Amino acid sequence: MSHVMNTYSRQPVAFVRGEGVWLWDSGGKRYLDGLAGIAVNTLGHAHPRLTAALSEQIGKLIHCSNVYQIPAQESLADKLCALSGMDEVFFSNSGCEANEAAIKLARLYGHKRGIEAPAIIVMEKSFHGRTLATLSATGNRRVQAGFEPLVKGFVRVPYDDLAAVRHLATNNRDVVAVLVEPIQGEGGIRTPDASYLQELRRICSENNWLMMLDEVQTGIGRTGCWFAHQHAAIVPDVMTLAKGLGSGVPIGACLAAGAATGTFGPGNHGSTFGGNPLACVAGLTTLNVMEQDNLPAYAGQLGQFIRNGITAALQGVKGFQEIRGQGLMIGIVLDKPCAELVKLALARGLLINVTADSVVRLLPPLVMSQDEAQQLVDILCPLIKDFLQS
Ligand SMILES: *Cc1c(COP(=O)(O)O)cnc(C)c1O
Repeated sequence: MSHVMNTYSRQPVAFVRGEGVWLWDSGGKRYLDGLAGIAVNTLGHAHPRLTAALSEQIGKLIHCSNVYQIPAQESLADKLCALSGMDEVFFSNSGCEANEAAIKLARLYGHKRGIEAPAIIVMEKSFHGRTLATLSATGNRRVQAGFEPLVKGFVRVPYDDLAAVRHLATNNRDVVAVLVEPIQGEGGIRTPDASYLQELRRICSENNWLMMLDEVQTGIGRTGCWFAHQHAAIVPDVMTLAKGLGSGVPIGACLAAGAATGTFGPGNHGSTFGGNPLACVAGLTTLNVMEQDNLPAYAGQLGQFIRNGITAALQGVKGFQEIRGQGLMIGIVLDKPCAELVKLALARGLLINVTADSVVRLLPPLVMSQDEAQQLVDILCPLIKDFLQS
């Protein structure tokens, strides 16, 4: 019997080594990584520059506590602010913690403005994490069931529904913020209308609400811009990051700008591990390599290449509905539950994921070559065809 708590139904494979977009299991079989550890391994596996930077840092200093100055944390905050146009950063270890920071920040922002029970607008089908506050913010009953009482202070509206948000602007005096994913990841790679974020930005500004974007999955170049909201040419008040930021080393971040800047003071929030030297070197190296190799723009192009390839291969196949997403955040929507495809792909040496029952999700590393992307399409599409025709 395993002594690991049974919180995941795991595939029967253990990886022992990786290189670029390839992984090897304990039996020596090779796999093409179409998932990047769920949008985490931005630079793929064993990237030489990341390996060198981390090895050097481990030999110098891994951790020293936030009660001292951490130059790598200052540099990473500078870099993130330069890339995003935002003002300041709190570092955490994960996405849910970054969102916890955002939720606390919004509440404190509300209290400072005399609102005693601040409320945050959240979306149906959203995903924000597994801690109590973030699962309460999440729009998925399966994530919440059994953990009631939920944390109060969230008002839910349908995703991509501006009228529902405007309705709250006139009917709910307690609202202080909106928390939303630019593209819903776990919810099935759902992309809102092109004007959605811009209009939300306008509504938030008009009502002195904080516009808070959960870019834990969409951020760090994945959609073709450094951050997904940059496609809409807006700047949020709060943005959370995690997954791809450290290329596999745990790190999260909550950024603030404009009206949200300066909300936290000493004693308001903290983290023992958050932003330690090792994690920040991972973040800095990831961003530097991405910048040098122009990976955000490349992710946009490669995503289009993959989507075109899949569309060409599945066009007209009964049961294939549509392909969604942006850049290297790709959802292939089928007309029936398709969790089975994960196993079938694994047997063929390809790592994919299925989310929201009937959506095949691809989140490959940003260093995938066009040839490797073609291999991904060539393995995956016949599998989907067979699956739909069986
Ligand atoms: C994965 C994810 C989270 C949670 O991140 P963890 O690091 O697992 O806590 C939050 N928000 C979004 C949009 C995510 O995709």
